[in-house]
Amino acid sequence: MKTYEIDVLVVGGGPAGLGAAIKARENGARKVLVLERDFEPGGILNQCIHNGFGLQYFSAELTGTEYAGRFIRRAGQTGVEIQTDTMVLDVKPSREVITSSAKYGLQRFQAKSIVLAMGCRERTRDAIQIYGSRPSGIFTAGTAQRFTNIEGFIPGRQVVVLGSGDIGLIMARRMKLEGCEVQGVYELLPYTNGLSRNVVQCLNDFSIPLYLQQTVTSIYGGERIAGVTTQKVDKKQNPLPGTEEYVPCDTLLLSVGLIPENELSRKAGVRIDSRTGGPLVDQNRMTTVPGIFACGNVVQVHDLADDVTVESEIAGLAAAGFAEEEPPGKKARVLVGNGLRYVVPQEIELSRNREEPLLLFMRAELPRRKVNIVISQGGMEKLKFPQPFIKPGEIIALSVTSEMLGELEIDQDIELKVEGGG
Ligand SMILES: Cc1cc2nc3c(=O)[nH]c(=O)nc-3n(C[C@H](O)[C@H](O)[C@H](O)COP(=O)(O)OP(=O)(O)OC[C@H]3O[C@@H](n4cnc5c(N)ncnc54)[C@H](O)[C@@H]3O)c2cc1C
Repeated sequence: MKTYEIDVLVVGGGPAGLGAAIKARENGARKVLVLERDFEPGGILNQCIHNGFGLQYFSAELTGTEYAGRFIRRAGQTGVEIQTDTMVLDVKPSREVITSSAKYGLQRFQAKSIVLAMGCRERTRDAIQIYGSRPSGIFTAGTAQRFTNIEGFIPGRQVVVLGSGDIGLIMARRMKLEGCEVQGVYELLPYTNGLSRNVVQCLNDFSIPLYLQQTVTSIYGGERIAGVTTQKVDKKQNPLPGTEEYVPCDTLLLSVGLIPENELSRKAGVRIDSRTGGPLVDQNRMTTVPGIFACGNVVQVHDLADDVTVESEIAGLAAAGFAEEEPPGKKARVLVGNGLRYVVPQEIELSRNREEPLLLFMRAELPRRKVNIVISQGGMEKLKFPQPFIKPGEIIALSVTSEMLGELEIDQDIELKVEGGG
């Protein structure tokens, strides 16, 4: 098998992969190749025909397809090569990549650097183990989105949505727009998991009821689902006896979480952060394997495609400039303190890139008002970022300017935590 030499090889042609590839090409990488298993690039955004994309990055309100379209065009203009219908089977720590495609058969590539951008997949019924029969009519919200927006099929007529993540909220509205009866969105937690703007625009504006601290505990039906039992839950999320309610439906949409797709990252020997489910990365989005970078939903489940693009440009720029001979500097660990679920990046080389602002993404553990995100080193408080409101469903993005970075010791770990509020 012939080996093809590539400067920057990108796995996945969603917004993360495209953004990284364009940035790498614009910054001196000569041969940049994106490998995509689908028949076209664009990733999940090809099925997102609703608006709300690009407000931050383009200062314009675009649909997901328009947003992806802009990057596909720019990729063509900058000379990025995209090979679709190509499944990446293996990524080795030596940056050798094996692929399979109907057109080219098995291929082998040797890359100077690699960007992993495989996105994420949805949790299914198996992951949450709902009791009952196994009829048809139970879909993940993303599958229903693909059926409706790309294949042209409506999954059903009377819909229950379980989970209030963004995809669930968006699909509740989509089903209503298609003339379906949407019985409600049921959420286990006492707060929604999606963006506040989606709760308003998708549920409130369409009079779709939201039931907090309630879940689906049983599924009924023979060939097709006929209904579900919903139940209230206590603070520990245990169903409360006596609160059962039968809700008829022919469709159950599950929006119960996303899992970063990291089978290839593991094969490449990349260390995975158990908090994010994605590769552990530094501020350049380099993983623990030199020359292998990662960005987008494969690193952390982002709320907004705009943030995915920002992250992908960091990875693409660094992948273009990667030279193996350059000895890695000492990296400080980014420790996750009180009130936070995770922080990305997990490592920072504080001695480098001090002229550039450092972008830190994180998620809160619980909703809280009027808090400070505090950065400390060795128990000493160094920087403070006031936040009017934080909630787990909305990513917090902090930009640490170069002046602020000057406050930090270059050889000490940093810790982030939430202080104050209620
Ligand atoms: C169902 C669903 C709906 C969503 N809806 C919205 C929304 O409405 N608004 C919003 O802002 N965000 C939405 N998101 C979040 C959205 O995924 C991100 O904003 C963005 O698409 C992430 O970009 P990405 O490039 O990291 O991942 P993706 O867009 O998922 O792209 C990853 C790409 O990698 C490819 N790939 C994976 N593995 C391989 C392999 N082994 N070989 C070759 N190619 C591979 C995939 O085919 C895919 O094209 C949604 C996510 C999902 C899962």
